Amino acid sequence: MELDKQQYESLVEDVKVLLKRSARGKPPKVSLSRETADLLESITAESVRTKQHPLEEQHIFVAQTSDEPVAADIISPTSAGAGGESGPQTGDSLSAIIQEISTCEKCPLARTRKNTVPGEGNPRAELVFVGEAPGASEDEQGRPFVGRAGKLLTDIITKGMKMNREDVFICNVLKCRPPENRTPNPEEVMHCEPYLLQQLDVIRPKVICALGTVAAQTLLKTTAPLYKLRGIWHNYHGIPFRVTYHPAYLLRNPADKAKTWEDIQEVLRCLRGEVIPDIDRQ
Ligand code: URA
Repeated sequence: MELDKQQYESLVEDVKVLLKRSARGKPPKVSLSRETADLLESITAESVRTKQHPLEEQHIFVAQTSDEPVAADIISPTSAGAGGESGPQTGDSLSAIIQEISTCEKCPLARTRKNTVPGEGNPRAELVFVGEAPGASEDEQGRPFVGRAGKLLTDIITKGMKMNREDVFICNVLKCRPPENRTPNPEEVMHCEPYLLQQLDVIRPKVICALGTVAAQTLLKTTAPLYKLRGIWHNYHGIPFRVTYHPAYLLRNPADKAKTWEDIQEVLRCLRGEVIPDIDRQ
């Protein structure tokens, strides 16, 4: 089968992760989209090795594992259960998911929202920030983190991480504003979290960074306080997951910006491949 450049690069990235893990004696598990897993199943290492691909110099990563039963050990946890019966399947574009969110009436927030706030950013982002839920400004504009807290998040990304806001993907656990900005309730999360899983399945980031206690506790299904959730790597559906303070909290407690910077630096180390979180142990 013919691989285009994008498929080839994506494949090489996934196999590099597999190799690093197995080199450290870990079971070669990695989260792959169904599309990539199918792709791996359908090609032979020989067909890749003999192809004069523009990324030829990277082919060592594929050729070295040619005899390994790679595909059999690959999981795609984010595909499972993400969409429910009516949701889009893996491989659908982010815009199809956004479209579905825009007409969602699965919970009562559909009656009080002005706009849905599906999230925004690079569909191929390596980093996804997940906040709690849209506030008033976000509900007005249909965009995540555009109020005061959003300005601080943008500063963290641009001034701290030296990245562009457009390079990452920013979204929330809930895609609609809860009245009076109250904490999301379990029914809302149950209906909305599948959209996040679908988004992650399409984006397949290297790292997720949860912003604040509610996002962290909700996604990790725990009641542990933030101070226990910070400072360690978690596993969210096979993706390394780091927790830091919510920008709105930081506006009230600027002294904790230093701790946030520690969290963000660890996220950067993971993005650069300087640390490989051992999320399989969890
Ligand atoms: N707080 C959040 O958690 N999300 C937003 O989008 C804005 C504020």
